[in-house]
Amino acid sequence: MRAPSGSGVVVERATRYVFLALAAAGLAGAGGGPPRESGPFLPPDLVELVRLDPTIRLDIRYATTNNFTGRPVYGEARAFLQRPAAEALVRVHRALAAEGYGLLVFDGYRPWSVTKQFWDQTSPGLRKFVANPRQGSKHNRGCAVDLTLYDRRTGREVEMPSGYDEMSSRAAPDYPGGTAAQRQARDRLRRAMEAEGFTVDPNEWWHFNYRDWRRYPILNVPFSAIPAR
Ligand SMILES: [Zn+2]
Repeated sequence: MRAPSGSGVVVERATRYVFLALAAAGLAGAGGGPPRESGPFLPPDLVELVRLDPTIRLDIRYATTNNFTGRPVYGEARAFLQRPAAEALVRVHRALAAEGYGLLVFDGYRPWSVTKQFWDQTSPGLRKFVANPRQGSKHNRGCAVDLTLYDRRTGREVEMPSGYDEMSSRAAPDYPGGTAAQRQARDRLRRAMEAEGFTVDPNEWWHFNYRDWRRYPILNVPFSAIPAR
């Protein structure tokens, strides 16, 4: 039997989302919660990437055991960014189509509690590869994305000089090794992202920050509380 109306569910989820965002802000700085920040901030407007363009591919590693922690840390394989960043990403994806490529996203918005978990599980010598929860991550603001290219002809993920989340010097966007084709692919991704206001992380070719990240607060909203829209 059909539910009388789907909109009730959406409203309920949206309300819960706002509530949780407020709860996260309220917890800020207390009891090891997210850092306290002084605004003003733009109101969060997290958008699910595949809703804007279903040809953006996902490989949400943190929803699987195939990630550096060895276990799922997300309950749902979904990817979100703040709306202007999400719209910029769609433009990147469409520009790359003309060159025969598309975007394959590993991660977008990440709740603060997951950043904290990553930090706690990473040995001190490798912590340049994870964000310090005291400062939070640009992923927590919905303004960072981890991604690579796929080949539109074969459907395959394009080879890069290192794997995703590889904590080594090969992950640096200026790493001179690997094959010429791998470096070209990495640089193609970077050029396309930079053209739409993203900058690459100095240690990770796959991580890009959107230019307006300072305008959004650190969030600790779980995926399950973000409405599908
Ligand atoms: Zn990242």
